[in-house]
Amino acid sequence: MERIALLGSTGSIGVQTLDIIRNHPDRFSISALVAHSRWQQLAEQAREFGAECVAIGDERHYDNLRKALADTHTEVLAGSDAINHVASSYRSDTLVNALVGYAGLHPTARAIESGKRIALANKETLVVGGDIIMAAARRKGVEIVPIDSEHSAIMQCLEGEQRKSIRNLILTCSGGALRDIPKQCLDSVTPELALKHPQWSMGAKITIDSATLVNKGFEVIEARWLFDIEPERIKVVIHPQSIVHSMVEYTDGAVKAQLGTADMHTPISYALLYPERAATATEQFSILDHPTLTFSAVDHDKYPALGIAYETLERGGTASCTMNGANEVAVAAFLAHKCGYLDIVGAIRYALDNATFVAHPTLDDYDAANSEARSLAERYLKL
Ligand code: NAD
Ligand code: MG
Repeated sequence: MERIALLGSTGSIGVQTLDIIRNHPDRFSISALVAHSRWQQLAEQAREFGAECVAIGDERHYDNLRKALADTHTEVLAGSDAINHVASSYRSDTLVNALVGYAGLHPTARAIESGKRIALANKETLVVGGDIIMAAARRKGVEIVPIDSEHSAIMQCLEGEQRKSIRNLILTCSGGALRDIPKQCLDSVTPELALKHPQWSMGAKITIDSATLVNKGFEVIEARWLFDIEPERIKVVIHPQSIVHSMVEYTDGAVKAQLGTADMHTPISYALLYPERAATATEQFSILDHPTLTFSAVDHDKYPALGIAYETLERGGTASCTMNGANEVAVAAFLAHKCGYLDIVGAIRYALDNATFVAHPTLDDYDAANSEARSLAERYLKL
């Protein structure tokens, strides 16, 4: 029985992860669950899965959560130290990190130090600190399996292949909610419009990141560290149908792609069961239902964030962390109607142009760079 600590259990990935675990009661058990504020949902999940421990990020909900679970044996904790504790020392074999944002970095680092296997949805972990996280994982012999669909696709395409045969990784990109909106209309885009993702139903932050293509930029950074490949060999193509989840091009000219329905249950179950596969496909995929698959180049004028992500990889050090911190503040402000759509990239640019740069950062340096990026974005957005 594999014991799982699930961070972000009330979110989009978290709930789908619990679906997979519910379908494999002989295989997985839940040791710990973590969420930010939805204490009722967290308490229900803890009861259903018999969690040994729960932690709530927002300490104001601690009392409610504790009372809701008073008649159970579940240990109840609160605060960010408790989340790090759950990630590192709680009795579990695997950490599923489905937190959103910078908050995911330290729990991943702690889990690596304590030798847990990691199924990683929190891409910000690798965006911020991919180099030191992957180095720590190699040192500790810890396996990090991606949940992000593009990276899961690439991992599947790489099975049985030799590293030296890889020519390029090709990430596919739906184009997000604003794919068909002309560039000159972007300044009037509302959060409601940008939240209407054509293919995937996801948390609010990643849906906005998909509209700006910040998400695809982050996925380039994620791929750079996860697969240890130079940024110039990571390509992005727009593929509106979201059926091809990504591809690998080999030196002999062969290209392998992984296809399927746009459903995160597939990459989540692959990450949990690898190298086995689940027998629980939610629906049968028929290629005949998708007779037209199209691909086109990214319009970098319309989507400057993708180029900025490559630029941060070239700069190295704390640059990608700065981009991430500024983006988090700007996306939250945009969702709260406190800034416009184009201000998101404006805030990222401003933070990168004004932030302190640390070439060889430690985890503490990332904390400082994240705080500084957030302050710079707040100043730019006049929050
Ligand atoms: P979400 O907003 O739906 O859920 C986030 C979860 O994390 C919630 O349970 C929330 O309570 C918890 N959380 C957030 N901040 C926290 C904090 N400070 N302390 C404790 N808990 C906190 O987000 P999501 O869409 O599920 O995305 C999660 C991660 O997976 C993100 O990094 C995202 O980029 C990545 N991802 C998501 C999808 C998807 O389909 N949703 C696909 C690929 C990658
Ligand atoms: Mg993705």
